[in-house]
Amino acid sequence: MRMLLMGPPGAGKGTQAKVLAERLGIPAVSTGDIFRQNVKDETELGLEAKRYMDAGNYVPDEVTNAMVRDRLSEADAGAGFLLDGYPRTLPQVGTLDDLLAEHGHKLDAVVALVADTDVLVDRMLRRAKIDGRSDDSEEVIRHRQDVYTAETKPLLQVYAQRGLLVEVDGVGEIDEVSERVLAALKTVTE
Ligand code: ADP
Repeated sequence: MRMLLMGPPGAGKGTQAKVLAERLGIPAVSTGDIFRQNVKDETELGLEAKRYMDAGNYVPDEVTNAMVRDRLSEADAGAGFLLDGYPRTLPQVGTLDDLLAEHGHKLDAVVALVADTDVLVDRMLRRAKIDGRSDDSEEVIRHRQDVYTAETKPLLQVYAQRGLLVEVDGVGEIDEVSERVLAALKTVTE
């Protein structure tokens, strides 16, 4: 299974990615997590990414694409993967298409978690109080929603045209949402 988990910031992609990857027996590859780990380790990539992340902007495509190319070439991703937070721009869609084509692979499904912006901003503000992520101030949270709407939401149309998109209601208990995703996956992969 090669799948994407998409949806606006705060929709629960990270949480669902971990649960679903476990259930499906494939690695979850989260670009946000990889960037945050690099920031923590103060790598060159982390130092570069941090200024974009803190402002709620996307890390440049060249940087992100190179990182994903490396990650997906690791052995554990050979038999499948769940991408969380990638692709987020049209050039990233192109890079992923190329990467897959190089190995004779294709995507099986694109799941989009759907939730109302007000619900999302609320969730993120609550999460900010708990984890204290440096990109979780109200201003940056709102900006991330706007960047998503402008840059990433249009990608859903691209995958819908390819017949890969399934939209899943992201509001509810974690388990409930996971079950919805698993049920939705059956409809596109069968
Ligand atoms: P969220 O979905 O809550 O916004 P993520 O953890 O997925 O958060 O990403 C955090 C930040 O990492 C993003 O705001 C962005 O700066 C950077 N990032 C993650 N994935 C990408 C990507 N595919 N392209 C560019 N930047 C990315």
